[in-house]
Amino acid sequence: MPIYEYRCQECQKDFEYLVFRNQEPECCPVCNSPKVSRLLSACGFVSKGSAGETVSSSASAGSSCSGCSSSSCAGCGH
Ligand SMILES: [Zn+2]
Repeated sequence: MPIYEYRCQECQKDFEYLVFRNQEPECCPVCNSPKVSRLLSACGFVSKGSAGETVSSSASAGSSCSGCSSSSCAGCGH
């Protein structure tokens, strides 16, 4: 689900809002003013580059340990 950033025109407060089924916030969570506008610069999907890191770390964790016969190393803590 996308998270958008909004700004209240009344109190100038920025806040993030989780847009569920395209339902935008009707009022400011701080002052309850209906004068809220979406900031176009914000985007909830900034997960670029983290996917490659996850793959490499999981590959090294799968290697067998020399201290024990188990491949998971959950018992010896290595
Ligand atoms: Zn406000």
